[in-house]
Amino acid sequence: MRHLSYSIKNIKELEEILSSTEIKAQGNSSSILVQVFSANTDEEWIEEATSSISKRLPQAVIVGATTVGEVIFGKTYTNSTAIGFSFFDITTLHVISKECDTTQEFDMGKVIVNEISTIDEHIAGVLLLSTPLNIDVASLLEGIKTSESSYPIFGAGAGNYSSMDNSLVFSNQWIKSKGAVAVVFTGEELQIDYRTYLGWKPLSQEMTITKVEGMLVKTIDNRPAFEVYDKYLGLPNDESFFLNVLEFPVLLQRDGEELARVPVFVDEDGGIQFVADIHEGEKIRIGYGDPDLIINDSAQMHQLVQKFQPEAIFLFTCGCRRFLMQELVELETAPFQKVAPTFGFYTYGEFLGTPSNLQLLNSTMVIVSFREGKTKIFSNSSAKIVNDTPKDSSDPYLNKHGRIISRLVHFVEAVTSELAEKNVELNQLYVTDQLTGLYNRHKLDEVLLYEFDRVQRYKASLGLIILDIDHFKEVNDTYGHQVGDDVLSSLSKILRDNARKSDTVGRWGGEEFLIICPESDLKGLIQYAEKLRKLIEGFPFDKVGHKTSCFGLAMYQEGDTIETIISKADKALYKAKNSGRNRVESVY
Ligand code: GH3
Ligand code: MG
Ligand code: MG
Repeated sequence: MRHLSYSIKNIKELEEILSSTEIKAQGNSSSILVQVFSANTDEEWIEEATSSISKRLPQAVIVGATTVGEVIFGKTYTNSTAIGFSFFDITTLHVISKECDTTQEFDMGKVIVNEISTIDEHIAGVLLLSTPLNIDVASLLEGIKTSESSYPIFGAGAGNYSSMDNSLVFSNQWIKSKGAVAVVFTGEELQIDYRTYLGWKPLSQEMTITKVEGMLVKTIDNRPAFEVYDKYLGLPNDESFFLNVLEFPVLLQRDGEELARVPVFVDEDGGIQFVADIHEGEKIRIGYGDPDLIINDSAQMHQLVQKFQPEAIFLFTCGCRRFLMQELVELETAPFQKVAPTFGFYTYGEFLGTPSNLQLLNSTMVIVSFREGKTKIFSNSSAKIVNDTPKDSSDPYLNKHGRIISRLVHFVEAVTSELAEKNVELNQLYVTDQLTGLYNRHKLDEVLLYEFDRVQRYKASLGLIILDIDHFKEVNDTYGHQVGDDVLSSLSKILRDNARKSDTVGRWGGEEFLIICPESDLKGLIQYAEKLRKLIEGFPFDKVGHKTSCFGLAMYQEGDTIETIISKADKALYKAKNSGRNRVESVY
């Protein structure tokens, strides 16, 4: 296989390339793939370019997409049309182009993957291009995922520099703003190596997606989604929202992998539209790209890709990487060119995986390496690996912008994790009684509310135990307040050590304690209280000796409120006190 790349501005330049000896010399190829990645979204331009190619190379499979940046020779081009010719010696190509109506995406994915499965040859891989601005590409990929095949699928979503509603994919004489194009590479000799990396770090606190409609995230932590972006980034909700927010995707964990999701626009209710799926209940954090991490990750990838000995490398890199890294973006892409001709485009979403685990990615770099036949050097260890960590990253005067960002990202990360730790501590303090270490009244009130809601909703059961020490005033009067405090602490330890997992034990006030017992019946509750009563009775309190206590029990009954059930437990406690103390009593 051989790959040649060009950047063109007009048809004249294209014609010159097509009639050049470089191209003509490739006449004996078994098949030719021409990829056209065009910044220009004018359909006439695309038609003109593709028909020029068709005329000169009638056997060529032509596919392409509109872009937000082109990669040619590993370099970033803007507002150009990138043309990549791949000449294969033995591989054959099949192209599937499908127009796709909105709401039909899932079925279309199934149609595409079924059509691929009818190809009766070894499938080495599939290049997929689609239009995420106009159709739900997540659903399209879900449709593809109905197949359990194991060949790799790779590719990306078409972009558009100037508007968020029109990107195009095309193939020979076919061009659509709603659709997908798949190129199926068949043959035993074609080897395809595919990889991806992100380089984005989570910065904000963790939040929960609370309402989603399609790919519109309506609320995060039950607040309009835009409030989160406004709060953390102070971003105005105007026509440049997308450009401003591009470097700050939402990061989430799904099936053990870190995924990014880039916001596109804000609707009138403060919901945020994404180009990839996010699900209700998913935990998210706002992320930011770390140039140091990106450059280091890419250096590692160069080494792995180099070992594979590719004849061509295709990069599908998210548009946001260009926005983040600016002119430094080539520190990431250019070193691949040292390994093999490197060609691709800046995307609106990357696709990678096998049909059964195909992922819709955002913000990532997808690297797909092609080789026809075996590696040229048979022992991997003898392959000459160039250490291609970019020179520039060690020069303090270059990459200054990236270095500052990396330090700031580090700073925010450190502050965020410090805050998260402090929050855990504060929250602990907020719910804990200082003397006894048990939950405090505030936490008990919260648990009561939660358990009441549960018991009413699910017709479950709920029992309460109020415990009060007998003649506690005497302890204070005889030994002083400090000794009284020590008794409260020791008694709390007995309660804590004997608490059941599902129960909540707390200090209700003074020398009274409350135990909230979901999922218990009265019999179990009495047994439990009796056990505690005996343990307390038998415990030798320091200086004071033995003390007894009374227990008032109440079970939830339909119609109860928090107040009525507490008052029932209080009544039972009163009864225990009046019946001679050191007793368990209940009101049902
Ligand atoms: P009874 O058997 O009827 O319960 O008699 P009692 O003496 O225990 O009466 P009561 O429950 O009304 O008395 C509570 C006493 O507990 C009064 C108060 O001085 C004491 N107390 C409340 N909180 C604390 C505390 O945090 N530390 C100490 N040392 N004493 C407390
Ligand atoms: Mg009391
Ligand atoms: Mg008491």
